Amino acid sequence: MAPDGQMFAPNVYDAEPIPDAARLEIDRLLSSGDLFRYTAPEGAPVALLEAEFAELLGARYALAVASCSAALFLSLKALDLPRGGRVLIPAFTFAAVPSAVVHADLVPVLVEVGDNYRVDMADFEAKLDGADAVLISHMRGHTSDMDAIMALCDARDIPVIEDAAHSLGTEWHGKKIGTIGKVGCFSFQSYKLVNAGEGGILITDDPEIAARCVIMSGAYESNWKKHPGMQNSYMLWQNKLPLYNMRMQNLSAAVIRPQLPLVADRVAKGRAGHDRVGDRLNQSASLMVPPPLPPEQRAPDSIQFNLCGDWTDGEALQFQAEAKRRGISVQVFGLSEGNARAFWNWEFLGPQPDLPQTRAMLMRACDVRLPTRLTDSELDYIANAIFHAAEAVKG
Ligand SMILES: *Cc1c(COP(=O)(O)O)cnc(C)c1O
Repeated sequence: MAPDGQMFAPNVYDAEPIPDAARLEIDRLLSSGDLFRYTAPEGAPVALLEAEFAELLGARYALAVASCSAALFLSLKALDLPRGGRVLIPAFTFAAVPSAVVHADLVPVLVEVGDNYRVDMADFEAKLDGADAVLISHMRGHTSDMDAIMALCDARDIPVIEDAAHSLGTEWHGKKIGTIGKVGCFSFQSYKLVNAGEGGILITDDPEIAARCVIMSGAYESNWKKHPGMQNSYMLWQNKLPLYNMRMQNLSAAVIRPQLPLVADRVAKGRAGHDRVGDRLNQSASLMVPPPLPPEQRAPDSIQFNLCGDWTDGEALQFQAEAKRRGISVQVFGLSEGNARAFWNWEFLGPQPDLPQTRAMLMRACDVRLPTRLTDSELDYIANAIFHAAEAVKG
């Protein structure tokens, strides 16, 4: 508390401490120098993480890698698509997603996203014929209509990859996000639910895709023997595929493993905190938190909301300044210079057709971090600061 009784704005950038169990394991690894995942004959921390993560998600295979971007790249390579094949992605995502598509020698086709942050199904369907794959990015954990997407793709035999980087713990009809498409990819970068600084993992039930990803991730010679199951598949692919060396090392797994048992609690806290702030923001006539689609159970660690009504860019910037004055950083995706989530900044793609719907959404959609460690009074501080900032401009 400040001397006058007013609370300081909560810090939403600091991470949570890593559980103590990680320290013992890291000490053990440092003492032995055993950092490479394939040195130990069995039971390496990375292999244990894969087994535990596959179990947590209910998937047959898991492969831990250097980042979610690496997982997306390997998944696309494993589909064995023709060079220059078309991959549909939502136009609202992080720049790493179109980058992974380009890296895999494929061409991203951007699909419109509505003001509820979800794929516009009419535009999706219009662009689907002729697509070789679909990569659904559950941006900020928002789940698009996976029933409609899977039905349209299954009917055309088009494989779906899920970018679940920010969706660990989210469910759709009670099914875990990341297990709906052919492959699900997750991130352990610091701003995600499980923090290892960097890291990623992919899950699949398809033994051929799993085998191809394992080999391409850098399981050279007979290192694939340290991955359980599907030995025949590996024999088929060994030396037939390039090695991209995107492996995870043991220290990362040591940081991740003790956080997995905390996921359920973080999900519950994140959901409650998000809804607490969301309810308050929805009391303002100028703000709107889009609801999830009915089958979705969210697992948020941030909140997105729209400036609704007739806001000008100038008023949106004034709102940001009013929030900042109250100690809260609000990012309007389309108004911050060079934002990596605004498709017009993905210049590496070359000229793209305009996406007026997504553009309009990005110009009025706001983003605020809500780490799951925040207390109710900290959440209320943030919610009130945003509410009053909106009132100051539009009230
Ligand atoms: C963080 C994130 C990524 C990238 O993850 P990295 O592990 O940093 O490569 C991709 N997609 C989404 C939706 C993300 O939130």
